[in-house]
Amino acid sequence: MSQQGREEHFDLARFVLGYLTQKGSIVAPVVYGAHETLLPDDLAAHLGVDAYLNLRFDAEEADADDESLRLSVNHPLVDRLAADLLQAEANSEVYINHLRLDKKGLLEQAEKNIGIANARISPKKGAMEQQALHHYLRFNFKVTFVSDEKQESLASIVMDGQNGYAIADPQHLQRLFSTETTPGYPHMSVAPPRWLGADAIDSTTTYQALLSRAKIALEAQLAERIQAMQNRIQRFLELDQARIEEYYDALEDDLRRRLERTESNEAGRRKSAEEKLAAVQAERAAKLTDILARYQLRLEVELVNVQRIVQPKVMLPVEIGDRRLTVIRYVVWDPLVHELEPLVCDVCGQPGDQLHLCAGGHLAHEACLAPQCIDCKREYCQLCAEQVQACVVCGEPVCRPSTITCPQCKRGTCRAHQNLCHAADGAPAVLTPAQTKAAPVAPPVAATPPPSSRTSAASKTGDRARQASNTGRSSKSTSSTPGSSKKPQPVHPPAKSQEPKTTAKKVQVVLSATEPALLVLAMRSANRPYATRAIELQPNGILVSCECEKEKCPADGWLFRPATAEHLAHQIEQMVEKVRAEYNVPASRVEYYTLYALDRRPLRGFTLPPVWFDEVRLELARQGFDAER
Ligand SMILES: [Zn+2]
Ligand SMILES: [Zn+2]
Ligand SMILES: [Zn+2]
Ligand SMILES: [Zn+2]
Ligand SMILES: [Zn+2]
Ligand SMILES: [Zn+2]
Repeated sequence: MSQQGREEHFDLARFVLGYLTQKGSIVAPVVYGAHETLLPDDLAAHLGVDAYLNLRFDAEEADADDESLRLSVNHPLVDRLAADLLQAEANSEVYINHLRLDKKGLLEQAEKNIGIANARISPKKGAMEQQALHHYLRFNFKVTFVSDEKQESLASIVMDGQNGYAIADPQHLQRLFSTETTPGYPHMSVAPPRWLGADAIDSTTTYQALLSRAKIALEAQLAERIQAMQNRIQRFLELDQARIEEYYDALEDDLRRRLERTESNEAGRRKSAEEKLAAVQAERAAKLTDILARYQLRLEVELVNVQRIVQPKVMLPVEIGDRRLTVIRYVVWDPLVHELEPLVCDVCGQPGDQLHLCAGGHLAHEACLAPQCIDCKREYCQLCAEQVQACVVCGEPVCRPSTITCPQCKRGTCRAHQNLCHAADGAPAVLTPAQTKAAPVAPPVAATPPPSSRTSAASKTGDRARQASNTGRSSKSTSSTPGSSKKPQPVHPPAKSQEPKTTAKKVQVVLSATEPALLVLAMRSANRPYATRAIELQPNGILVSCECEKEKCPADGWLFRPATAEHLAHQIEQMVEKVRAEYNVPASRVEYYTLYALDRRPLRGFTLPPVWFDEVRLELARQGFDAER
């Protein structure tokens, strides 16, 4: 992640200095990390700073006697520049006028068309339909695909300012085109944004959040094209590789034949032929590396300009609630498309029908909910996931209000297992498969199940032994001990008492959208992990490293040869699966996130981001892996 930080720095410097230069300032080259900058007087006055500035962008040590101005993303000056720039870029503000705004009966329509899965929509006392201006931001990007050739194109993403999501419907997008530059409703107030994380509609915070969401939408929009280009590049790469191999094969064959014909007493000629052969081999390797670099696909995205689109809508505050809780949301009529807008999921930020009301007051898609409490059936969303914990006996989800905390051992259980939390010599009781509703922990997939009933224990040890030749643990400890024969326990190995298996609350998988890297976190609590396992594509293979509660983690520091593109997702998923099994977490409590420019958003399941499928990079990693063997 440090690289991401650095990139941000770089962008900030470019952003600030670029702006100042454009406005007529003189910026000297960097000296000792600082830029001497001379601003025109009117610009300095406008920004409220001195005309002479010594600007720094490194966030590190601040010397006390240093008079330079150290800028970071949150610095007020940067905010002011961004606001200025926003105004300048959005100066193509357009309006959508002449709409019929006398819409009534929104409540009835909302009850009919929107609906909440587990709650009712009802009128808010004294509330009336009201008109308010709504904003869209059209972000125009220049996208450059760089590989053996360069392809440039323009792409635009329209973000709904009040709802926070990208407009996807082509017909809606078409209607949002306008050339009208005169406001049709100059006295109408502007509706505040209705999504989590937004500030005022024209604030920098809101703008930045919308921009980063627009970039995610852009990436999704380009995914197919990127894949197609990668396939094309791959084909050309293979052709070129074949050509090079063929050419050098012929050259080497020729040299070898010559060597064979050379008598052993002609030392001089032999030596020269051998040298030639070595040179040819080196040249072949260099050529192959060269074309790999040439066929690397890189994507550059640059924001060209932003257009603000202003349109009036009709909104009505309503109550959404059940017997426990009521929240207020706005039902909004869009007179441009003649439709009621769907409500927004607070977890993923996307619109949805039949959202669920979370006991924490959020609205969420069914897929954006945390596991439901088995006792009271309350529903919490993933933002409130820490409200749901696992019963220490059965591992099923139990919400905080329903958790029964043992006065003796302080562990929490569900209602059914109230007395079992310290039943096994002070440890939680171990349920046999017949007793438990939850599926038993699956054995590692890679291992072939032996005929014995102790599948999990036996295959696990075998698996580990194959990877690490010296685990220091004798296989005796996991084979049957005299005491273990009386009670068959297929799920938990008999060695459990010597080496208690750690049970994590949940597993979080965080997939970077920009780097072939992911983190798998086995969580001890809502924000403290037992284990942080990093899986990343390196020039010499897929590196798995682990920081965890174990003194010496057997999973730490392994390299794997990347599978073929077809099997890569499965290969990585198995690595995630290992963590889940290791920490006893049921599949229902694995959460997936994508990370884009520090913005973490939930995913529905495991999908390997496109950035992994860079065949050139994968092939290099395979070659790097093989070279070290
Ligand atoms: Zn959602
Ligand atoms: Zn409950
Ligand atoms: Zn919630
Ligand atoms: Zn239980
Ligand atoms: Zn207890
Ligand atoms: Zn570990």
